[in-house]
Amino acid sequence: MNKKAAVVGAGISGLYACLLLEQQGYSVDLFEKSDVIGGRLNSQKKSGFILDRGFHVMQTGYQTASKVFNYQQLGCKPFEPGALVIRPSADGAKVWRFSDPFRRPIRGLLGAFNLFTSPLNLLRVGLMRLTISRVRDEDIFLQQSQTTLDFLRSRGFSEGFIQSFFRPLFGGIFLESDLRTDSRMFHFVFKNMSRGDMVLPKDGIASCAQQLFDQLGSTKLNLGVEVAIKSERDLQFQGKTLTYDLIIKAFAEADKVETRDVWTVYFSAPKSPLKANYIMLNSAVNQQTNIISHLAVPSDIQPNYAPPGMALVAVTVVGEDAKKQSLVDADSIEQAVLKELSQWFPDEIESWNTLDVQHVKQALPECVNIGQISHDSPQLNNTCGDHTTHGSVEGALISAQLVVTESLKNAP
Ligand SMILES: Cc1cc2nc3c(=O)[nH]c(=O)nc-3n(C[C@H](O)[C@H](O)[C@H](O)COP(=O)(O)OP(=O)(O)OC[C@H]3O[C@@H](n4cnc5c(N)ncnc54)[C@H](O)[C@@H]3O)c2cc1C
Repeated sequence: MNKKAAVVGAGISGLYACLLLEQQGYSVDLFEKSDVIGGRLNSQKKSGFILDRGFHVMQTGYQTASKVFNYQQLGCKPFEPGALVIRPSADGAKVWRFSDPFRRPIRGLLGAFNLFTSPLNLLRVGLMRLTISRVRDEDIFLQQSQTTLDFLRSRGFSEGFIQSFFRPLFGGIFLESDLRTDSRMFHFVFKNMSRGDMVLPKDGIASCAQQLFDQLGSTKLNLGVEVAIKSERDLQFQGKTLTYDLIIKAFAEADKVETRDVWTVYFSAPKSPLKANYIMLNSAVNQQTNIISHLAVPSDIQPNYAPPGMALVAVTVVGEDAKKQSLVDADSIEQAVLKELSQWFPDEIESWNTLDVQHVKQALPECVNIGQISHDSPQLNNTCGDHTTHGSVEGALISAQLVVTESLKNAP
């Protein structure tokens, strides 16, 4: 008879745990307290637009994710490697383009002379890329830990370049204000960004979770149910105790894990404000009243994200940047963002309409001095989720792999 397992939580880590358990011959019951699968990989339709729950991309450089997801089948398309950087001011904004010199050599070379920063800083980016690319993925989290800011300083980057480039880019990825994130997480993300693309699937980020779910065979999904895990083998569900050979908890208890929050403001626009398929970084984030971290136009990458003839603009505000300005509700965030954007796009902003102001409260786990994480030896008690590794889709998948491998060693 098949062994029975229960997985609690249908985010990416829970779904992947189900797949791995099925491959080991388990019959699996999957319990999810909300009424959808995917957890933080969630999208909704609104007025013909696809709104991901918080601006989200997939990274094709992630090794485990590349095995789990079929990017081609998802219709994924990439952002340009590099970024636009805006320096807003009351007298008019100035925009620079940074192309990745390794993948766009000519544009990258031109960018080196664009006076945004000294060529020395750009050379250091290249050197850092070489050094980091030599470290094996599984060894990254065994390295010495420091803050990302200390690491960047130790690599000789100027304060100006750190604040105007690394700060908006990685602050927007890590969802924090001061680059305090563990430098090994920086290495991990930087390495993956250098070797792959940031892509968007055709039908929204939730379609990635759906694709993983579609790979499941016999797993029985129970939506809209909150179960209590009573012991290693017992669950309480609708007043009954259910006994399993193995139970995997694939979520974090909100009050036990420190997290970071993020605001995403979505606008409909008659046309894209950007001239190329880059993400636009705000070099002035966190100065005076600037709170926008970055802006992207998902419909430039995937026209499906907006109705024909329209554009979808996604503006990201890191939660702690907003809090510093005492902006804690949707109305004040929307007003502050609109005011800031009126300096960026003075001739266009009047024609934009707000579609949604989203606040994701538990967006990412805190990630400071996370200790040594070995991708080979989990420190987990039948628990997976990005909070047990690091806050990313890859971290969530790796956590599932680790916990299933470890649990099977101990399973009766
Ligand atoms: C706005 C935003 C942008 C992001 N951008 C990126 C990005 O660009 N690239 C990247 O790699 N990562 C990104 N991430 C991180 C990535 O989304 C997460 O790391 C990943 O989705 C976490 O998956 P998980 O399975 O660990 O947790 P979750 O997705 O949180 O899943 C946990 C599930 O458990 C359920 N649950 C909780 N309690 C119970 C219970 N008692 N019973 C049953 N079910 C329960 C929850 O409802 C949820 O569905 C982003 C996250 C956010 C929020």
